[in-house]
Amino acid sequence: MENIKMLSYRFLLEAQFKELNIPIEQLEAVLEKQDIILAAYSAAESIQGAMPADVWPEVLEGMRQNDGISVVCDDFTAILYSDDLCYGKKLHTIYHELGHIKAKHKRSGKVRFAENEEQEREAEAFAYYTVAPPCILHEIGGMSDCVLARLTGLDSKSAAEAYRLLEEDRQDRLLATEKQLILQYSGYIKSNQAGECRSPQLTVFGLAAAIVVACILLGLYLNNSKSDVPDIITIPITKVTEMEPVTVTKVTAKELEQIVWKAETGDVYHTDPNCYYIPKNAVTMYLDEAIAVGYRKCKDCE
Ligand SMILES: [Zn+2]
Ligand SMILES: [Zn+2]
Repeated sequence: MENIKMLSYRFLLEAQFKELNIPIEQLEAVLEKQDIILAAYSAAESIQGAMPADVWPEVLEGMRQNDGISVVCDDFTAILYSDDLCYGKKLHTIYHELGHIKAKHKRSGKVRFAENEEQEREAEAFAYYTVAPPCILHEIGGMSDCVLARLTGLDSKSAAEAYRLLEEDRQDRLLATEKQLILQYSGYIKSNQAGECRSPQLTVFGLAAAIVVACILLGLYLNNSKSDVPDIITIPITKVTEMEPVTVTKVTAKELEQIVWKAETGDVYHTDPNCYYIPKNAVTMYLDEAIAVGYRKCKDCE
């Protein structure tokens, strides 16, 4: 499921989301940029004209049977979701369908219903990783399924499942993608960290700021007592209290290359996540690690 998680993280990076629990309209705008139409069942007829005519009966049947469907044709990709779902379920359903699309799951018809158990598991994993990204939640800390439900809008049953995935996802070293994602969500992470973690931090910074102020005052005093013409004094207070990087770097293809995919056994690594030869159960690792161990680069990846 590691490559599914990476698919999910790459989507969150591309989307430039900076918090969990994002409004459906915002998700709709992001998907539109990726040429994926997102619409509620009640609006399905308004996009009927955009899809090949022979698909429509399949769509109607799909909507009758499911909370969400995805439609993938040559020039048309859409995710449709039931109007009757609560917010958490809507988000979950949409991301489940997006998981099928991102993982390029093959299907028999143009409209997707549940067909293949493994594909359904992957789509579910994509949904959980996207709604409740483990690297972000670990960074916030103090997680429980209640806190997770509050942050993500998932119902208690889904939150418990997301929490289980989170617990499975303990790592010593963060992948480059994860570091980028944490940077992107840094404001959100800070504002959701537990109170007991913040107060000592604030005290330390308060103390540091106080020391800086004291030094500046002392400097002013010494300067004045010399009765020379005082130098221009730059006060570095803002530098000290500024903790959060404001600029968020965009993902470039080059940065993504730092992660490579590899079959669990074997010694060839892939730099292109869409390489045909990456097996389903591929694991991700760092390019530097792959090189250090002496793995060979796939000839088909660029
Ligand atoms: Zn599915
Ligand atoms: Zn390859």
